[in-house]
Amino acid sequence: MAGLNLRKINKIYPNGFHAVKDFNLEIEDKEFIIFVGPSGCGKSTTLRMIAGLEEISSGEMYIGDNLVNDVAPKDRDIAMVFQNYALYPHMTVYDNMAFGLKMRKVPKDEIKKRVEEAATILGIEDLLKRKPKQLSGGQRQRVALGRAIVREPKVFLMDEPLSNLDAKLRVQMRAELSKLHQKLQTTIIYVTHDQTEAMTMGTRIVVMKDGIIQQVADPQTIYNQP
Ligand code: ADP
Ligand code: ADP
Repeated sequence: MAGLNLRKINKIYPNGFHAVKDFNLEIEDKEFIIFVGPSGCGKSTTLRMIAGLEEISSGEMYIGDNLVNDVAPKDRDIAMVFQNYALYPHMTVYDNMAFGLKMRKVPKDEIKKRVEEAATILGIEDLLKRKPKQLSGGQRQRVALGRAIVREPKVFLMDEPLSNLDAKLRVQMRAELSKLHQKLQTTIIYVTHDQTEAMTMGTRIVVMKDGIIQQVADPQTIYNQP
């Protein structure tokens, strides 16, 4: 089981700011769940707590049956894709994708197999020897996705991954991400403030405001209300 259970999660930053308040949510295995809401409402903070990059002030977080409050990010079986790609500029595409696996001491031939498979899924198999600066924005975003895919995580976290792409590419990548979700059969938690992204990709939408969940429902219900 790769579901997530967030029970009464709170985040109070060291300066006293209460960014996430009593966040209760059960995420099913294989959902493509979307967090929406205005800037500053606590979407990224929540995502970062799920990744383990930000400490939880109170509450419990389960991945499957495991309480992960004190589990290090690298041991959470979660991969995160950021909007700014965060690729290593001096490394080839291959090495960017392989890096996380090397750190985890995955055998070399297994790394090669996973990188080549992910590259094929993403259509970047001809770019493996290039450096990031020799890639277009869309190609870079695919490499960033590839780096997450090779880890074969139970859960993908994506924080506005398409926001730096131009409108046309965004439309294309939306469709690709939906296909990818079906192909990989994993749980995706996706942060956006783009209503079209939420409408077209999400199986469920979580609407946040001022650190509080306002509504959880399917896209039709959220966007067809008066
Ligand atoms: P969103 O992703 O929805 O735009 P964030 O989760 O980034 O929102 O931020 C939620 C709130 O927490 C914002 O008001 C932000 O200013 C505040 N915040 C974020 N990081 C910190 C921090 N390190 N210290 C104090 N406040 C923070
Ligand atoms: P290393 O010697 O760096 O530990 P390998 O022997 O697996 O790792 O590969 C040597 C280098 O060749 C890799 O770091 C990578 O840059 C490149 N490489 C390996 N396989 C491929 C591939 N299928 N396509 C492109 N480059 C590859």
